[in-house]
Amino acid sequence: MSYIDLKSPPKREDRLKACIAHSSTICGMAGTGGKKSCLQDDGERSFNQGSICLLLPALAMLNSLPDNVVLLHSAIGCGSCSHSQNANVRFGGNQRWGVVKDGLWLSTAMNESDVISGGEQKLEQAIIEADSRYKPFSITVVAGCVPGIIGDDIDGVVQQVQPQVNARLLPVHCEGFKTKIWATAYDAVYHGIGRTLLREGELPAAENGLLPFKGLERLPKTVNLMNVSSMGRVDEQELERLLKGLGLDVNVFPVFAHPESMVKATQAALSISTCPTHDDYFLNYLEERFGVPSIIRHMPIGIANTSLWLRDVAAHFGLEEAAERIIALEEGELNQALAEFRPLFAGKKVFISAGEFRALATAGLLEELGLTVAGIRSFHHDEFAEGEYRKLADSTREDYVIDIANVQPFEEANLLKRLKPDLFLGHANGNGTAARLGIPTHVIYHTGLAYIGYKGVYELARRLWRQLKNPVYNRKLAENLRLPYREEWYASDPFAYLDTRGGISE
Ligand code: SF4
Repeated sequence: MSYIDLKSPPKREDRLKACIAHSSTICGMAGTGGKKSCLQDDGERSFNQGSICLLLPALAMLNSLPDNVVLLHSAIGCGSCSHSQNANVRFGGNQRWGVVKDGLWLSTAMNESDVISGGEQKLEQAIIEADSRYKPFSITVVAGCVPGIIGDDIDGVVQQVQPQVNARLLPVHCEGFKTKIWATAYDAVYHGIGRTLLREGELPAAENGLLPFKGLERLPKTVNLMNVSSMGRVDEQELERLLKGLGLDVNVFPVFAHPESMVKATQAALSISTCPTHDDYFLNYLEERFGVPSIIRHMPIGIANTSLWLRDVAAHFGLEEAAERIIALEEGELNQALAEFRPLFAGKKVFISAGEFRALATAGLLEELGLTVAGIRSFHHDEFAEGEYRKLADSTREDYVIDIANVQPFEEANLLKRLKPDLFLGHANGNGTAARLGIPTHVIYHTGLAYIGYKGVYELARRLWRQLKNPVYNRKLAENLRLPYREEWYASDPFAYLDTRGGISE
């Protein structure tokens, strides 16, 4: 039985044995894969600071879908991140179609009475109202914690209401209490898409020998380029440029894709992951049900990784020679262009914080620029990153710390005080600790800035050069602001609160 046959996807703690609490070094992770040290039971830290739940990345994807209403079934605060995500929805729509449009999200705003009497009726009315008021192609019915706790059956409600509305209804399970690995969000969204938008045209494999969606032909030169919201249009264009250079057609999926067009993913000759942390759940489904093979290995961040990524795609189509021509040209030009930045980067130390694969690929990129990696904090760890740890361990001159943590700024502050990096790369909302310690910071992902492919290397180098050239802003911040920790904490072991029950540290 496929995962897609289940009502909701399994959490990543179970499916991938992913973990969020561990300390090691780059060589330690490369040697053991971190696996035996990660805690598979509920142990993690005896002290935790706030984190996010899986709703945030799920809504980042869903809010981007055109002609779709996101209907959140939970307490009203659960969808509050949609306000900050709206800038990306407007900007992304404008870049793609020249239309500035807000995301449409509604909430059933469950209250105390709903918790006691159940919220199914309220959800039913909200679906009917959303359908008649906005007439969307689809409505994604997203469940937060409350319906999960009180036992509202959102799939049952959707099934019952579907005949009464025109919109296609997609249940998406994002009950925050079920998982600590927020990357489970990607599986939850893909699960909803797979179970509803792609299911009706699916024929039994034995009968059709793995065909695309009913009535559709295979497209022998089309590749699915997977983008799960952490890649802006400018990065999509860079990868499209490289793939088109090989003579391939590109279907970008699923962010900003019209729900009606999603069946095209079943017709492609190949799916290419741009981030293994995001994509494996759906790529397995496309392969299993529609015979679309996939590549999920390298992230096209950095010179070497972009070339490896392109070589993998080319090898699938027998286009190795064309790929080598493109790579030689791109790498030659890029290395020349980077020469002016390298003297400033030489010997500068950098700390990186992000989702695991992006953090590791970025470490490779920064080493290519001549910076020295002082440490990495990955938001979780799973098996997909093992090759990447090995690559970095092979190339590093000195071992450095790896912190597996779903943010935990107190650990980060302690580490940064010790390591004293010259530069910090992290998420826009996660750079505050480093900034207040006087360290120049740069966003590790911003959908308006180039980051991916060869172009991304150059653009990132240019931005970092400017930042390192003049670090006064952060110096001033540190002079005027302080973090909330006592001096005793900075003298303590940064991993003092790691609870290693169920595992060992090497
Ligand atoms: S953890 Fe639960 S209650 Fe909190 S935002 Fe997420 S879904 Fe809502």
